Amino acid sequence: MESKAKIFQAKSEKVAFDRDHRKILNYNIGQYDKAVKKGKHFFRDLENAREQASKIKDYCLQEFDQLLIKFEKNARGNGCEVEWASNAHDVLKIVGKILAAEDIRTVVKMKSMISEEVELNHFLHKNKVESFETDLGEFIVQLAGEKPYHILTPAMHKSKESVAELFNLKFGLDNTAKPEEITAFVRDFLRAKFMSAELGFTGANFLIAETGSVALTENEGNGMLTFSWPKILVVIAGIERLLPELNDLDLFWPLLAVHGTGQHVTAYNSILSGPAKDSEGDGPSRMVVILFDGGRTKLFQESEMRQALKCLRCGACLNACPIYKNVGGYTYQTTYTGPIGSVISMYMDGNADMGFLNFASSLCGKCTDVCPIKIPLHNLLLTNRKKIVESSDSLGVERFFFQNYKKYMLRRKRLERVSPKWKNKAMSTFGVKVWGPRRDNLVFAKESFHQTWKKKEF
Ligand code: SF4
Repeated sequence: MESKAKIFQAKSEKVAFDRDHRKILNYNIGQYDKAVKKGKHFFRDLENAREQASKIKDYCLQEFDQLLIKFEKNARGNGCEVEWASNAHDVLKIVGKILAAEDIRTVVKMKSMISEEVELNHFLHKNKVESFETDLGEFIVQLAGEKPYHILTPAMHKSKESVAELFNLKFGLDNTAKPEEITAFVRDFLRAKFMSAELGFTGANFLIAETGSVALTENEGNGMLTFSWPKILVVIAGIERLLPELNDLDLFWPLLAVHGTGQHVTAYNSILSGPAKDSEGDGPSRMVVILFDGGRTKLFQESEMRQALKCLRCGACLNACPIYKNVGGYTYQTTYTGPIGSVISMYMDGNADMGFLNFASSLCGKCTDVCPIKIPLHNLLLTNRKKIVESSDSLGVERFFFQNYKKYMLRRKRLERVSPKWKNKAMSTFGVKVWGPRRDNLVFAKESFHQTWKKKEF
């Protein structure tokens, strides 16, 4: 079987030269850039806000175990059932039990990358449970039989024309339907599903330890319907989603909104503190929170790498990354893509072979610049590279090359012992593979700069 690294290279080669893909991506990221630039002015002192947020998240990592236990205790106190899952198998086992006990046939889902991590839709399909994504972008990719292209904007790779074609194919809508018409159609279509679904799934943007609450943020109102209509709510949350106090949302919600979409604050922000009380007319009668590890404690054990657990999943580093912008989301073959995906994927369950993604970076540092939590992403990429190189035998050829490169570059005499003619011969025989087919041939000059300089008379 072809290795994932080879697949990555082959896909990148294809996607990077796909003009249509590039045009759509450039347009969508261009719109995002404009909105975020404007949105950042909402903060009087953005740097200070980032610094504060980073410190709060550092505190969460320092007190990781205590805050998790505190969240669990308080969530139980609110009437939630809290389950712990160390891997995807555990999550699906818990979900399977709920589905069987409650005889669930239809579920609605709010956008959640964790559900992608555990392949929830695949599991539901296998168990003959109808599952509907209710975020418009997610609905589109589900309809197309695809996975989310981007952690925040799942259908970023699609043009409005291709979406209209898709709805024509699946629902017979006019193939020139406008985005507003498609949105209105989806709203009606999903309204019926919300009303008939017995269970709703959500992720969690934040887990508030102080109150045992789940905080969710969204723009379409589909999340509110997901957790208020069905009688059972299952929240699958990564254990790193912690915030110590409710007041912290004051900082984190706007910070996430600005970096995610350029908004001051997203349209709908909800805090769920347990199932509906007797006095409340709507809301689920049962609320289960599944705290999912999935490799996060492995990441936590690495003292430097654990900073990646501070991520808010805002997507800013993806939009800034020159590699992501060229190769696109699907080349990565991982749930999390772009710089943050490259950093964390090799620690996540079942992804030990994804270390090569750390080398798919120009290390320009733009990801670090834009991160609202100040995660030093490009440094973490370098740390992972070092770790891979030190532990790998498969890079023997590369190590041999660089050892010799260093040896020759440090001794000019050695470097000049080989004539330009032989250097050019070696380049044309072995170098093309390294140099790549898209660059002009590398031709060595008849004499080196050093030799020319020596001849110069002043
Ligand atoms: S690493 Fe930073 S920029 Fe990237 S998704 Fe996470 S919070 Fe956003």
